[in-house]
Amino acid sequence: MHEVSIALGMVDELTRIASENNATKITLVKLKIGKLSGIVVDSLIFAFDAIKLEHPIMTSAEIIINEIPLIYECNDCNTKFETEDIYFPECTGCKSYNLTIVSGEEQHIENVEVEV
Ligand SMILES: [Zn+2]
Repeated sequence: MHEVSIALGMVDELTRIASENNATKITLVKLKIGKLSGIVVDSLIFAFDAIKLEHPIMTSAEIIINEIPLIYECNDCNTKFETEDIYFPECTGCKSYNLTIVSGEEQHIENVEVEV
């Protein structure tokens, strides 16, 4: 499962952040996950909840995921639009396929709250 390796990478990153800040505990983790990242949010939370139990510093950490919509901008008519179509999006204004991604590829830690 893709999400397990992402959660593992995240836990590594969180461990590093915690030691840099001399934290004794991580209480909250906020993530930004774009629709285009292919990450299943429920699976990621499930994986994180399982992995965090092996790391005392984040056993009680809550995870909040901010899902970023998939937004494109049309290179022909400059229309910005949101879509659920990750494979063949077309401009809502002029039907063009000549598009640039504005958001939706995010896959990173946005914010971490710790106790020191
Ligand atoms: Zn267009």
